[in-house]
Amino acid sequence: MYEASLIDEVLVSEEEILNKCRELGAVLTKEYEKEPENLLVVGLLRGAVPFMSELVKRIDLPIIYDFMAASSYSGTESLGDIKILLDLHSSIVGKDVLLVEDIVDTGITVLRVKELLYNKGARSVKVVALLDKPERREVDVKADWVGFTIPNKFVVGFGLDYDQLYRNIPYIAVLKPEVYTH
Ligand code: 5GP
Repeated sequence: MYEASLIDEVLVSEEEILNKCRELGAVLTKEYEKEPENLLVVGLLRGAVPFMSELVKRIDLPIIYDFMAASSYSGTESLGDIKILLDLHSSIVGKDVLLVEDIVDTGITVLRVKELLYNKGARSVKVVALLDKPERREVDVKADWVGFTIPNKFVVGFGLDYDQLYRNIPYIAVLKPEVYTH
């Protein structure tokens, strides 16, 4: 495969990810089975796409999903603010939102998007993230469900990019240092 020569270390294999999606799918099925009609699964573009696509197949309920795109930036507030690049299609007033994220790193994106979804009238907002990098956290926020906790390394694959590349690598990996110098 083309990417093999670029990879220093595989942190999470494809098989581990797919098994984890099954496991999380079963947990989320139980969590939302009482009122599945009230659930809206929201994926954060673009990183969450491969994870979300595996996960929703393992949630054994009639669900609706949507996407939004947000980017955090350093504004006047030291915390950083969030800019919505693509908004949801319909109203979420009274909905139980399940936010699907690729990784919780500083935590700023999840904190800000959760605030925003509550401001838009969501009844509940819970977060499922494929990866968690707790060492990097800058704000007090946690995903409700996490696939894998990883060390403080920059990773790519399964939706995560470097300069928009490598999102389609089917596992989580660390790139060789020389990749960053090109
Ligand atoms: P936050 O710092 O707000 O928690 O994370 C914001 C975004 O930064 C994540 O959704 C993800 O797209 C990106 N990010 C954080 N850590 C990594 C990483 O190790 N690799 C890649 N490719 N992106 C990351």
